[in-house]
This record gives sequence, structure tokens and C-alpha cells, in this order.
Amino acid sequence: MADRKKLVAGNWKMNGLRSDGLTLATELARRVRAATGAEQLSCDLLICPPATLLGPVHDAIVGSGIHLGGQDCHPAPKGAFTGDISAEMLADAGCRFVILGHSERRQGHGESDALVREKIGAARRAGLVPIVCVGETLAQRQAREAAAVVVAQLAGSLPERAAGRELIVAYEPVWAIGTGLSASLDDIVAMHAVIRRHLPTEAHILYGGSVNPANAGAILALGDVDGALVGGASLAADSFWAIASSCG
Ligand code: PEP
Repeated sequence: MADRKKLVAGNWKMNGLRSDGLTLATELARRVRAATGAEQLSCDLLICPPATLLGPVHDAIVGSGIHLGGQDCHPAPKGAFTGDISAEMLADAGCRFVILGHSERRQGHGESDALVREKIGAARRAGLVPIVCVGETLAQRQAREAAAVVVAQLAGSLPERAAGRELIVAYEPVWAIGTGLSASLDDIVAMHAVIRRHLPTEAHILYGGSVNPANAGAILALGDVDGALVGGASLAADSFWAIASSCG
């Protein structure tokens, strides 16, 4: 059994102006530094603010042990790609991780598995750990296609050879994101077991989809759940901290 320290990651999405983003990051760093004994987190903490806040948030959390991540990257290292950000730029800003293939990118920006695969290559080229999101829609789940959809996403987007410590997969059922509807514990266990069969033992599998302080303890206690990718509840220090504190 590989030793996989849990990771609780906050995806701020397109939220946060300088003042509130800095307040949140500073408060999380303060809590990490102030925690003693049983208050100390047993998991790693990651925050992924919008690109405009990477610099200030980096400065706010530096030395606290909280990791910084981007929410997307372009496959190319640089060039004429207006509005995009490269993996090298994220690394240069102090990121260690990058979220790739989030359903909001797959659906809102038409991102294919092939493009996600290219972006994973870019992340690894820049020394970043990709957090690759997969998950089925409600229609696909109702049609009993959830596992097949997720396996196809993994097959289409993961590189041939990926060392486990350089790869994280986040299972995020699309219908559970931002809806308040979390997948059932049985469904999470079943899907994580499916995903695990396609990954090296060291690779983390996170669950994402309406994780909150009330359901985090039960979800994070499940076998093969190596952490959580948290959207809405990562925007307030109290709820994000409560989720991270749920890691056993
Ligand atoms: C997400 O966007 O990755 C996510 C899981 O969002 P939420 O926690 O708000 O459902």
C-alpha cells in the first residue's frame, strides 16, 4: 500500500479580487503557522487562485507549507496565444500544481482529451504536477455509462508513462460540481476503484463535487480517496479549514 498523504486543494475558479484573495490566503497561512498538536493538519493544502492573484497569494503563503497551483495552462511554453498562460509561467510564479481538464474547461471551452493530454505534457515539461479532472454528466450516469466515460477520459488524456508521484486524478462528477449534490459514498468508492486500476499505486485520486464541512469527513475516510478538490467551500477560510481538518 503506497503512502499517499492526503491533499486538499481549493479551486477558486474566477473568484477573488486582490483584497479578498489576499485576506483568504493570509488567514490560511496564519492558521497553518498557528496550529499546534492536534490542530495541525495531517494533509497537504493547495490553493489555486485566478492567475491575477498568483503573485500576491504566493507572497502571502510563502514559507507556510501551503502549495500554490494554476487552474489551466496552454500546451506551448510561450508564443502568440493571447490570453493564455503557459506551464512555465505558472512554475515561474511559484506554482507546483496545475488543474487540467476541469469540466468547466471541457464544456465551456470545448477541451478534448487530446488537448488535456498535451497540457499534461506541458505541465510535466515545466516540472508541475497535473491534477487531471475526469467525470461523467448526469445523463451519462443515468444511462449507466459513468465508468466507461471516465475510463475513456483517462485513456484519452493520460500520457503513456506517468510516474505516480507526478500525477493526480480528480474524480469530479459534472452533476455534483457547484450543485450541492455530492456523489454517494458507494458511488465514490466504486469510481475510485475503477480509476485506481488505471493508475500507478503512488498516484493520488481526489474526489471533487460539493465537498463541504458536513460531508468531508465521511468522504475523506474512504479507501482510495486521497484528498478533495474543493470549489465553493474553498472560498472561505472557515469552511476550507474545516474540510482540511477532516482528514484523518
Ligand atoms: C470544482 O469546481 O472543482 C468543484 C468541485 O466545485 P464545488 O466544490 O463547488 O462543487
